[in-house]
Amino acid sequence: MAPIPGSGLAKGLAVTLRTMTRKTVTEQYPDALPELPPRSRGVIGLFEENCTVCMLCARECPDWCIYIDSHKETVPPAAPGGRERSRNVLDRFAIDFSLCMYCGICIEVCPFDALFWSPEFEYAETDIRDLTHERDKLRDWMWTVPAPPALDPGAEEPKEIAAARKTAEKLAAAQAESEERQEGQS
Ligand code: SF4
Ligand code: SF4
Repeated sequence: MAPIPGSGLAKGLAVTLRTMTRKTVTEQYPDALPELPPRSRGVIGLFEENCTVCMLCARECPDWCIYIDSHKETVPPAAPGGRERSRNVLDRFAIDFSLCMYCGICIEVCPFDALFWSPEFEYAETDIRDLTHERDKLRDWMWTVPAPPALDPGAEEPKEIAAARKTAEKLAAAQAESEERQEGQS
């Protein structure tokens, strides 16, 4: 059957009218910042205090875009008469975001919780070479990482929190004891 003349035009106008009455989805970036989900994969932050330079992230990265340099340092024995120990000291930690494909494998495999996703995304550069970001920048991004979601009400307390509380209680008790002793002497 031949189409009714003008039906295509009417259909097109109907689509136009329907779309005109809907709320626009266009974000006026950069005047209006988008509301991103807190767990967005924007950029990777490094909490370098936790990094033991185990190299797992660099080895597992499918793009080979994590660059780590380190050296070994000797530290005194933990107890008198013990053996000296050696530890890795981080010299360089950089990620080339022109190669990174935001797979998150480095964050997943890090056994020491040193890498985190930050929703920060405003780090475009006009020169691709400037997309290799060094440890200071990666550390700055750590402060844009959102706090972890709250635990379920019935969840078991993480052992790290219990250990930290025990240490804080021990320190507070030792401090109170030393203050009491000082007061007793005066
Ligand atoms: S997110 Fe993936 S590609 Fe990017 S640095 Fe981590 S492991 Fe490599
Ligand atoms: S996996 Fe974690 S601890 Fe190991 S080098 Fe990478 S960031 Fe550091």
